[in-house]
Amino acid sequence: MEAYETEEVRSGVEMNRRDPAELSPTRLARLCGRALKLRCPQCGGRGLLKTWLRLREHCPTCGLKLDRGETDHFIGGYTVNFIGAELIVTAFLTVVVLLSWPEVPWDFITYGGAVLAIVMPVVTYPFSRVLWLAIDLAFQPPVSRDFDPTSSVEARAVHGAG
Ligand SMILES: [Zn+2]
Repeated sequence: MEAYETEEVRSGVEMNRRDPAELSPTRLARLCGRALKLRCPQCGGRGLLKTWLRLREHCPTCGLKLDRGETDHFIGGYTVNFIGAELIVTAFLTVVVLLSWPEVPWDFITYGGAVLAIVMPVVTYPFSRVLWLAIDLAFQPPVSRDFDPTSSVEARAVHGAG
């Protein structure tokens, strides 16, 4: 597993050296795929969560600032989470209605739907935060100031800081 993560870090480094402004569907898919596994979109490293609802300040592997150095970066993740979680709940309830028609369990739809609408955003929150980071990285590839120079050997070696 260590070798895999090292290779992932190298591929992240390689992306930086190619063309920082490159926006390709392949790169976007890679960034989002890593995010949906709660890994660093940039390097694929693990351990981004401090708690289920809080991200660390930096990626423990590459040192990427997980809020991109912006205090309002969470708003994008919050928006993605709100829309995504409620769409999941709506889709689930729609499937329940269609599969149970005409004997629809309206009490379950009413009360279960209310509980799901509250619980689902909590379940999906970390995924949304990291997914938003991935989307942000796709449109604004990281530069050296996006990395904490003291957080990892790789970050220092790659970005020449420290
Ligand atoms: Zn990383």
